[in-house]
Amino acid sequence: MTSEFDLISRYFSRPTPQADLGVGDDAALMRVSPGMQLAVSADMLVAGTHFFSDTDPRKLGWKSLAVNLSDLAAMGAQPRWATLALALPGADEAWLSAFSQGFFDCAEQFGVDLVGGDTTRGPLTISVQIMGEVPLGAALRRDAAEAGDDIWVSGQLGGAALALAALQNKTSPFGCEDGIASLHTPQPRVSLGLALRGLAHAAIDISDGLLADLGHILERSDCGAELLFAELPRPPALDAMLSTVLGRRCLLAGGDDYELCFTAAPSGREAIAALSLQLRLPLTRVGRIIAALGLSVLDAQGNAITMKESGYDHFA
Ligand code: ADP
Ligand code: MG
Repeated sequence: MTSEFDLISRYFSRPTPQADLGVGDDAALMRVSPGMQLAVSADMLVAGTHFFSDTDPRKLGWKSLAVNLSDLAAMGAQPRWATLALALPGADEAWLSAFSQGFFDCAEQFGVDLVGGDTTRGPLTISVQIMGEVPLGAALRRDAAEAGDDIWVSGQLGGAALALAALQNKTSPFGCEDGIASLHTPQPRVSLGLALRGLAHAAIDISDGLLADLGHILERSDCGAELLFAELPRPPALDAMLSTVLGRRCLLAGGDDYELCFTAAPSGREAIAALSLQLRLPLTRVGRIIAALGLSVLDAQGNAITMKESGYDHFA
C-alpha cells in the first residue's frame, strides 16, 4: 500500500527555487521582497459542485491552479508560491500523475513554486492557496472605481457558460470549442493584471458572471454602472442566441470565463488599446461608472434592458 508520503514525494515534490524551504518540513519558508505586500487567496474545487468527477485529471490540475492565479491577476499581483490541499477517495496513481502534470504545467507557465500542502482521504476536493507579491499600495482593489471611469473587459464573455450548456445538452455544441477550452483550461490574465497597475482603478476576475462580479466592484466602490449590451465581447456562437434567455444569461451572468473586468479613467484609453495589441488580448470598453447606485444594461437605443429580460433574475 502506497503511503501518503510516497505519493507526496512522487507527485508533488519539485524544486522550489523561489522558497528557502519547500515541501518536506512542517512549514515552508519564503521571503517577501522588500517594499512588496503579500497577496494571498484560496479557492476550493469540490467534485460534483465545481467539476464532474470524471473530468480529465490533467485539465483539472491546470484549472485548480489557474482559477487561483486569476484572483492574483485581478489584484495586479505577481504569483510566486502555492500550497495544495487534496482530499482523495483513494490512491489512484494514474489520476494523481495526470493531475500533478496539469498542475505543474500551469505552475511552470506562470512561475509558481508549489511549497507545501496537505493530503488526506475523503471526497475528492482540491484546495489551492496562492501567494504573490504586489508593490505596497499598487494592488487593483474592488473598492477603487470612480464615477466617470470606463468599464473594460478582457477577452470574450459567455463562452464557458455556453460550452457548459452544450455539454449538458441544453444547446448545440457548434462553435463552442473555445468555450470548452476556457471551461477546462482557463488562461488566467496575469500579464494583463500586472500591466494594469497604475492604469486601472478597480479590477475583479469574472468567475461568477459579469453582472455579479461587476456588482462586487460597485458595492465596494459605492457607485453604479451603465453597461452597453451591444458592446459586450462574445463568441460568434453566442451572437446568434442573444434573443434567447440562455444566450443573454451566458453573456451577462455566465461563470467560468476568468476574464478581467476593470475600470480606468478615460485618459487611459490609448494606453489600454496599446496594451491590448501588446498582449494580443482583446480589451473592450463596455460601459461606464456613474455616481448613482445601481447597475443598468442599456440597449443600442440607450433604453434599459430589465434584468428579467436579461435572464439574470433566473439565477437569483
Ligand atoms: P504534517 O503532518 O506536518 O501536516 P504532512 O504529512 O501533511 O505534514 O505533509 C508533509 C509535507 O508534505 C509538508 O511539507 C506538506 O506541506 C507537504 N505536502 C503534503 N501534501 C502536499 C500536497 N498535496 N502538495 C504539496 N505538498 C504537500
Ligand atoms: Mg498535514
